[in-house]
Amino acid sequence: MKGPDPFANATKQVDDACDILGISDPGTREYLAMPDKVLRVKIPVRMDDGSIRVFTGFRSQHNNDRGPYKGGIRYFDPAGGVEYMEREVMALSSWMTWKCAIVGVPLGGGKGAIYVNPKKEKLSDGEMERLTRGFAYRISEIIGPEKDIPAPDVYTTGREMAQIADTFGKMHGSSHTPGVITGKPIPVGGSEARGVATGLGAAYTVREAAKSMKMSLKGAKVVLQGFGNASTFAGEYLESMGAKVIAASDSKGSVMVPSGAKVSKLLEFKKKKGSVAGFPGGKKISTEELLTAKCDVLVPGALENQITAKIAQKLRCRIIAEAANGPTLPEADPIIYKKEIMVVPDILANSGGVCISYLEWVQNNMGYYWPFDEVAKKMETNITAGFRDVLALSKKHKVDMRRAAMVLAVERVLEAFKHRGIWP
Ligand code: NAD
Repeated sequence: MKGPDPFANATKQVDDACDILGISDPGTREYLAMPDKVLRVKIPVRMDDGSIRVFTGFRSQHNNDRGPYKGGIRYFDPAGGVEYMEREVMALSSWMTWKCAIVGVPLGGGKGAIYVNPKKEKLSDGEMERLTRGFAYRISEIIGPEKDIPAPDVYTTGREMAQIADTFGKMHGSSHTPGVITGKPIPVGGSEARGVATGLGAAYTVREAAKSMKMSLKGAKVVLQGFGNASTFAGEYLESMGAKVIAASDSKGSVMVPSGAKVSKLLEFKKKKGSVAGFPGGKKISTEELLTAKCDVLVPGALENQITAKIAQKLRCRIIAEAANGPTLPEADPIIYKKEIMVVPDILANSGGVCISYLEWVQNNMGYYWPFDEVAKKMETNITAGFRDVLALSKKHKVDMRRAAMVLAVERVLEAFKHRGIWP
């Protein structure tokens, strides 16, 4: 395997939380860290030109003590190769366990993947569908509305979710089982508010963070890294709370507009020109200038490994809301903590997505569907309670919010494990 081992990183985070909680028993620590099951499948696909191509897929089920496994399926080709992807999927399934526990949704952690990059390879719609249904068939024995409920992730969309639900239903005597997967299009059992969930959830956590610091969001300056789904909706909802976006970026560049730019205008411009870079009245800046701009709220919402120790030294924000997964390197954390910047860690800041996935599954199971406001309200309840609980533990143990979040999650999973016990 090439590159750092993401599962070793996930294991270290569990160990750190166990240290804070005084859990020294090696068996308990191993139980918490290791996935329950990792399934690796071979998926042969008949390509349009008649040839056969074999793909590799994974489903890692980390922990189901609190409820069925839950987590996305990604189609990607990490540089580390297939062996790296297996470790990555194991790590991601572990983070799903903790994310669900923090926001109090009764689900566990899972993650799936196929080693393929549909964007680079330009697979046809037919090839994509045969690959997706082939994968669904091969993991169907371990997924199900009461067992393991996948969702979209990198390069998978509602289309793949609908195909997986359909394949699963047809394999079970043509049953209608929309609850086997979430992130579906609305006509086949999707939920209102799923599209905005992650950004809206991140905005709720910023509101709670600001409240805890007695900071007003009226006129607060917001910087958005990555002008995609998570960031733009975070920006729009923060704007509706009185804040203004003063800088934004995407893969093509970064722009600073000191007087503030409406998110809708940035979106309009990006739609026309393909990027926020070059926004009229704005100044072109580097990624480093964007991340270290003087502002109230920084939303890293694009990629992992953005806030290095060097960047951390130069940060001039008051709140960081990690809409992206893993934007901060571990060595940056102590520096940020010392600077008294409030970090809403990724497993809390971007958990709006899994909260609404959970609500989609609930709606599927009862066959009754709520309007947008009701779904958003329920998510708000979960995520604000999660924020409150993490903050309380951060104060109690005198640790940063990231470690406090892990402590909360590990405590909750362990509690469920103790009630259930070991069998057989
Ligand atoms: P997206 O594809 O909608 O947006 C990603 C954005 O990042 C794009 O605008 C892209 O141009 C930009 N980007 C790419 N490279 C960049 C760079 N070098 N500098 C600046 N911007 C760059 O993706 P998304 O769904 O918004 O996901 C973004 C992050 O949020 C990921 O880490 C993802 O795992 C996380 N996340 C998303 C959700 C969700 O529901 N969308 C849920 C949980 C976590």
